Amino acid sequence: MKIRFIFPKWQKLLDQDEDLSRTLAGYEIGNFRMPGLAVPSVAAATPHDCQIELVDEHTQSLDFDNLDFDLAAISFFTPQASRAYEIAIQIRKRGKKVVFGGLHPTLLPFEAMKHADAVCAGMAEPCWTDIITDFKHNRLKPLYDTRSAVPYSSQYHTPVRSLWQKKGYVQIGVVQISRGCTYRCPYCVVPPYAGDDIVYRPLDDVVAEIAALDYPSFYVADENLIFSSARDSQYASALLRQIAHLKKRLFIASFPFLINRAADNIMELLANAGCTQIYLVTGLDSESEKMYAGDTTAVDQAVKKIRSFGIPVMTSFCVGSDLFEEKHFSWLIDYSDSLETDLAEFFISTPYPGTSVRARLAGERRLLDVPWSKYNGANVTYRPARISERELAHGFRNLWLKYYGRLSRFEAYKRITRCFGASVLKTFERKATG
Ligand code: SF4
Repeated sequence: MKIRFIFPKWQKLLDQDEDLSRTLAGYEIGNFRMPGLAVPSVAAATPHDCQIELVDEHTQSLDFDNLDFDLAAISFFTPQASRAYEIAIQIRKRGKKVVFGGLHPTLLPFEAMKHADAVCAGMAEPCWTDIITDFKHNRLKPLYDTRSAVPYSSQYHTPVRSLWQKKGYVQIGVVQISRGCTYRCPYCVVPPYAGDDIVYRPLDDVVAEIAALDYPSFYVADENLIFSSARDSQYASALLRQIAHLKKRLFIASFPFLINRAADNIMELLANAGCTQIYLVTGLDSESEKMYAGDTTAVDQAVKKIRSFGIPVMTSFCVGSDLFEEKHFSWLIDYSDSLETDLAEFFISTPYPGTSVRARLAGERRLLDVPWSKYNGANVTYRPARISERELAHGFRNLWLKYYGRLSRFEAYKRITRCFGASVLKTFERKATG
């Protein structure tokens, strides 16, 4: 049996605007492609008598008339959903069966079921073998629901990262250490997707996986490396101590409210473990959103704290939240400069399915009728409180153009090298992406 995994294309910032694309071309920003974990994880759980292949629409074109497979498995998150449904229609029209999995089908299984022969809601590992067996016996069920299954049971296998072609991706290994999150931030899909407790993978497995990575750098997809509870700190300290010996570069993302609560010894261990950059998301959580009401304390403190441990910061500013006004576009450039962070990115607040912020906006009748493809952080998907939709869309685009339009190539190169390290930079494969 042959399974074709498909990763549908989603529109990134650079795909939607020629001026932006030209301005950002030198910065390797706005079109950043990391080899994700979803498909390699399911591939790892596939029975050995199946042949597998991956078509990633970001680097390959999908030929609908090439029907050399038995089952199509499409994994997607929200901005890919519109395209995933289009692909499924074409494939099913040609007589092949389609199964969906991933973040969006888990959050909206009944919507996804309208477009596929079977949907996996939740982790694929516990039901993937059943799906394949049912397919072979022509008895696929419309829904395989594993949302209450225990993560990291014996079904977990090391992801098959070799599925991603080398060209077209930044050469960083993505590693996941846990599932779920205790914080329940209103804008976040992690708790509705993976539960509101944290289940850690066995430490030795994680260390072995990082040691075996082909890449000199890796990104930890979880934020709990710096959570402040005793259990989280204990896991993080043990992990960071062990991976420090591997001499790899480590990247993480975080929020000011987490950094400001993080213990100094964890920050120190992070730096010693080779942390090359912290991607600091601001303006989204309630503490850092206060910067739009004139209180920048949370962001100031977080940036200062990260830098005090010698770790570069790349700041990502959320715009369009309920405190955001038109005047904040110009203010953000000055504020970002005053922080002296190495690079900045900007995104528009987006209410993803399953989140409580989406439920609130729906109750206030503020959600706009736009396709899922617009849920990429670069489009207006709901009516903002203190700025018009037009002003937000226009101001967002100009913010990127202004911030990057004024840096010389040399300055850009210096900043990127600081933020990513030469080894990652060297392996960016922009030309191959077309
Ligand atoms: S944003 Fe981070 S801290 Fe908040 S719920 Fe999501 S994963 Fe947890």
